[in-house]
Amino acid sequence: MSRPLRLDPERFFPADAATRSIAARLFTGVEHLPIVSPHGHTDPRWFAGNESFDDAVSLLLWPDHYVLRMLMSAGLTLESLGVAPNDGAAVETDRRKIWRRFAEHYHLFRATPTRLWLDHVFAGVFGLPVRLDVGTADLYYDAINGALATPPFRPRALFDRFAIEVLATTEGALDPLDQHRLIAASGWQGKVITTFRPDDVTDPDRADFAANVRRLGELTGEDCTHWDGYLAALRQRRAFFREHGATATDHGHPTALTADLPLREARELFAKVLDRRPPGADAELFRAQMLTEMARMSCADGMVMQLHAGAWRNHNDSLYRRFGRDRGGDVPLQTNFTRALKPLLDLFGSRNDFTLILFTLDESTYSRELAPLVGHYPCLRLGPAWWFHDAPDAMLRYRRSITETAGIYNTVGFNDDTRAFFSIPARHDLARRIDCAYLSELVATRRLDEDEAAEVAVDLAYRLPKAAYRL
Ligand SMILES: [Zn+2]
Repeated sequence: MSRPLRLDPERFFPADAATRSIAARLFTGVEHLPIVSPHGHTDPRWFAGNESFDDAVSLLLWPDHYVLRMLMSAGLTLESLGVAPNDGAAVETDRRKIWRRFAEHYHLFRATPTRLWLDHVFAGVFGLPVRLDVGTADLYYDAINGALATPPFRPRALFDRFAIEVLATTEGALDPLDQHRLIAASGWQGKVITTFRPDDVTDPDRADFAANVRRLGELTGEDCTHWDGYLAALRQRRAFFREHGATATDHGHPTALTADLPLREARELFAKVLDRRPPGADAELFRAQMLTEMARMSCADGMVMQLHAGAWRNHNDSLYRRFGRDRGGDVPLQTNFTRALKPLLDLFGSRNDFTLILFTLDESTYSRELAPLVGHYPCLRLGPAWWFHDAPDAMLRYRRSITETAGIYNTVGFNDDTRAFFSIPARHDLARRIDCAYLSELVATRRLDEDEAAEVAVDLAYRLPKAAYRL
């Protein structure tokens, strides 16, 4: 027998009635605010072409590394979920069967944010009235595929329905930004902007690093066999991205290490990492120097800089070799900020015209390093609880660990950071509810008056991301 699926209007609020009612009142002030999404990984092609999405499996399962990693942890193979390896091994092609397999294992997601987001998508976006399980798998599959074929479920219609005011995508330094050009030329009013993510040309550990730097030279007409030409080429690409709406850069580094090398050493290091395969210890020092160079360029061109540190990408080597990146094989690393950022902060830390937004996957750094750093340096802001910590308890831990030292206004509101377009309303709804839950406790314990808490809730949901990302 199928069981009802219902989104409780007071979900994620505190358990005791008095605090819960404060949270509910605060939430009424932010529930319907437009969505500002300054950092994420949706595909600009969707909004350029406005074609229908294919089906439930390719939309909701395959691109979602949270889903893949949990199913894999329970012993399911990616082949059985229809994800093809590069070695030609047999793979399930019957998408209905794949969807049934997912439904059969949906209980694995109990008490995880994936379950919360997906239920919100099922009930809120598709209007499904019953819970997903083996018995309702076919009903889901047919209802979702049927809806996706209709005009209201095309990308631009959903963009409007989700009340997205601005959505930032993320592109590599070599991307021609054709899709963004098409969006701009189409006359559509939706605001989709790009973000400059140069890891493809700044990380010598990437197998394609030297080829990418060569391509960077071809694209810009700069001599990228030398340090000075390489930096000039990067400045040119940043300007190109700004012409396509970018206000921010993003840097995904294993550590937050920065460096300030004398010019001669930087030139020599660049020559070494271009030449040497594998680059070894030079790679880390080069990435460190590049963070400082990117900060220097941000001081000049006004782009907001984001640093996403602390992920060991592709930890599962055989998975990476057979299926490539973003399949759920990434694992957090212990991260240091205080020591690592010192060279960069010595140069630019006190500037008011430069913004560096920090993200961590290492929660132990919140109160020990990040809150004290962002509570002091004018250039620093703390990004929201990210990736593994984009979840109710982790978001509360974040606010509780940092607010007393960093305050509210050294944070930047919420990032959904997602490629799962349909889950964007779910993620912002959850973040707003958790912020209201946190604020309701401050009100209940008389640490903040309710009118101020209501103002803070609006700042977190709307004003802070717009201000921090200069949108
Ligand atoms: Zn991201």
